[in-house]
Amino acid sequence: MVAGKVLLVGAGPGDPDLLTIKAVRAIETADVVVYDRLISDEVLKLIPKGAARICVGKQAGHHPVPQSEINRQLVALARKNRVVVRLKGGDPYIFGRGCEEAIELERAGIPCEVIPGITAAQGCAASLRVPLTHRGLATGVRYVTGHCRDGEPLDLDWASLADPSTTLVIYMGLANINEIVRQLIAHGLPGDTPALAVSQGTTRDERKIRAPLVQLPATARTTDFAGPILFIIGRVVDMAAQREGEGHALGALAVVA
Ligand code: SAH
Repeated sequence: MVAGKVLLVGAGPGDPDLLTIKAVRAIETADVVVYDRLISDEVLKLIPKGAARICVGKQAGHHPVPQSEINRQLVALARKNRVVVRLKGGDPYIFGRGCEEAIELERAGIPCEVIPGITAAQGCAASLRVPLTHRGLATGVRYVTGHCRDGEPLDLDWASLADPSTTLVIYMGLANINEIVRQLIAHGLPGDTPALAVSQGTTRDERKIRAPLVQLPATARTTDFAGPILFIIGRVVDMAAQREGEGHALGALAVVA
């Protein structure tokens, strides 16, 4: 057994105050931090001065460091008896490939701990005052990925996703938002279902737009979004609109904010 270990840590959606205490404590013990592109500068500031930093950032279509190489690096660092913090945006086990890394570490006999984080859906929704579930509006919520391998069609169960009584949250959906909306409407979700797009949620640079589902692709396209984008579709989005009507802080929601 090696003395090193890997802590798979969820860094939350961006706002450093949304890290868990356990995540902060883990970062403080790190000899080396291996992090993704989505980790905000403010979170990176928490890394101790003496700790090494390795960025293995990924962008859609560009994979600077392949997953197999990340796995190999984590094993190699731990074998040098280092405490390795593998920092991932949101929650490491939600569209984060954290489980793949944990399996590889286990295979290599490296101790590994998983520290959960606030996933983008929850961070963004709460920050915009959208309840992902709400009595009478949404009996449940589904998180899906809008990303697919190059040239392959989106492999989603459209008939079950086009359900007006549940909330749909789409990660990594910008490139395919036309097709996603087309399929949802074709499978029966009303075109006037409230929808929301938010980029860099929970950070100072957060931007959001609200539009009926049918107009979501056009609105998202004409909006100058930067950074990661999340789509929230469902009646619950109106709860933010209601606050807007009451003159609360979400007044800018209907337009680009
Ligand atoms: N493990 C992460 C998700 C990684 S997939 C989590 O649990 O949140 C990356 C996608 O997450 C992005 O394409 C975007 O859809 C979403 N995302 C992550 N952070 C976000 C943020 N601050 N604002 C909006 N979307 C975000």
